Amino acid sequence: MGHTDFNKESGSVETMSPIGEVSNPINITLEKSESKEADIQRLLLEERMRLEKEYGVEAKPIEHFKRPLERTFTKSERGNVTILFGGLTWKHEKLIKGVLEGLGYNASEIPTPSKKAFQLGKEYGNNGQCNPTYFTVGNLVEYLQNLEAKGISKQDIIDNYVFFTAGACGPCRFGMYEAEYRLALRNSGFEGFRVLIFQQTGGLEQAEMEAGLEMNLDFFLGIINAMNIGDILNDVAYQIRPFEVNEGETDKVLDECMDMMYERMKRKRYFNFNGLMNKLMKKVPGTDYITRLVEQKMSNYYIETIKEIRQKFDAIKIDRTKVKPICKVTGEFWAQTTEGDGNFNMFPFLHREGAQLLIEPIATWILYMLHQAKNMYHDRKGIKEGEEVPKNYQVLKKFKQYKDYKQTITVLTIAEKVFDNEYNRIRKEFNNLPHELASQLEMQRLGHPFYNSRVEGGEGHLEIAKNIYYVNKDLCHMVLSLKPFGCMPSTQSDGVQSAVTSMFKDMIFIPIETSGEGDINAHSRVQMALGEAKTKAKVEFKKCLDETGYSLVEIKAYVAAHEELSRPFYIIPHTKGVVGVAANYVLHAAERMKKEGIKPVNKIAEAVM
Ligand code: SF4
Repeated sequence: MGHTDFNKESGSVETMSPIGEVSNPINITLEKSESKEADIQRLLLEERMRLEKEYGVEAKPIEHFKRPLERTFTKSERGNVTILFGGLTWKHEKLIKGVLEGLGYNASEIPTPSKKAFQLGKEYGNNGQCNPTYFTVGNLVEYLQNLEAKGISKQDIIDNYVFFTAGACGPCRFGMYEAEYRLALRNSGFEGFRVLIFQQTGGLEQAEMEAGLEMNLDFFLGIINAMNIGDILNDVAYQIRPFEVNEGETDKVLDECMDMMYERMKRKRYFNFNGLMNKLMKKVPGTDYITRLVEQKMSNYYIETIKEIRQKFDAIKIDRTKVKPICKVTGEFWAQTTEGDGNFNMFPFLHREGAQLLIEPIATWILYMLHQAKNMYHDRKGIKEGEEVPKNYQVLKKFKQYKDYKQTITVLTIAEKVFDNEYNRIRKEFNNLPHELASQLEMQRLGHPFYNSRVEGGEGHLEIAKNIYYVNKDLCHMVLSLKPFGCMPSTQSDGVQSAVTSMFKDMIFIPIETSGEGDINAHSRVQMALGEAKTKAKVEFKKCLDETGYSLVEIKAYVAAHEELSRPFYIIPHTKGVVGVAANYVLHAAERMKKEGIKPVNKIAEAVM
């Protein structure tokens, strides 16, 4: 087929054949059309430049952001410099502060980010970031601005504070956090403010370490203790709060307990051999590690305070016959952890709406990282990046690779076991009321058919696996997934969740995209799903109560006469297929009543008739 060209000067239409034969002289037509096109382009460009100038949006030469050379944080500065950190819950942060102070640092947590932080993050950072970036980056800027507003000069802030945070190399935007902090600090006038990055997979960057913040075993064990104890106290409070008889009592006790634990962590003195013995021990390689690990395993230093804390929680009177739908919270790490504007204040909202929350411990994330590291080593079988696979005749090389691979796997397995044991040691002090950590192997098995477990970034396959795990094990009535606006991994798993929910028909799953605005819309969507979950919980409770043959009044009367049943650490056995606390509770109380030969009044009435 040919095409037509309009000749403006002659006013005629000229037809061209596909091979360029035209009814009019081709050269003249093309020259004219080319110059016309060039004229149009020139006019367009001129007009564009005029408009850009008029509106003040002229294109400027692009200056790529380069990581500034920062002063290092040195040991000699420790006395004057305060280490800032944040991004978790206030409970975890308070304990981390205690650990850092116990290790001799000045430390301060940055409060939970608010919407103002989000706006500052947008103002001073790049466009197109994910929601947690805006909140956390803006939060640091807000904190520094507040220090300035209190009368501390910019230079003093830059000299006397450093920020410590985690970093990674991606693949999601987590890899951009470091650059984002630095860019926002520069744009907000705090150029030169120091950001210390702890690489998620590679430890603290050596160049930045400079012993100002020593990443030794004491530091790591301290942080892990703070995280684990923070997780467990958080879990205990979330399990007691919905059933408390006197409103607000759990929070009051939690505050007291966090203060106690903070003081304990702050006063911790780390064990060292003295004088000559210390010198001798240091000559034996690995002694430091062994001493620390043995101390961690054998010492009851934290357990003593935990026992006191347990007593305080145990004194809270609860009523487990209140029917509450259990809402499991999953999603992206930060969105599911933060307790503020960053996730629309979803936790207090759900509590006010009558739900019992099943929150996610940070420990799951730590175990996930260890598990993924093991997977990577299994896949590579000791072959390092960029290295060639040894030939069959390179026996020694093959052997060395295999040995390295096995060694690394052993170390990671030990780390998993030690971590799990330490977590369970604290759980045990609370009579195992806090939830046990989900097995990562099981999570992988559940999630992998839907979401390849080798795809990393964010929570990877965990978002999918948790959904299936908690529903299948009768641990919740609904799953709420909090996923930040602009989050790449969460968007991927959102797509997959529809396949999951189509296979598990009874699943109540609601994904909520968190942002700096839109609270009302998000709350109303959650309210609708929660309505369904409430109905599910009520139907389940009624069914269980009917099965017992007792009336609720009879069960309550029995509970009133058996004080231990109203104590938080009295463990109610979990009946298969029954989710709710109240439903499991009436089944258990009824079983005890039957064993004691208490006849249901209804039944007696039936017998008399
Ligand atoms: S997981 Fe999502 S929200 Fe979190 S850092 Fe990565 S892209 Fe951002």
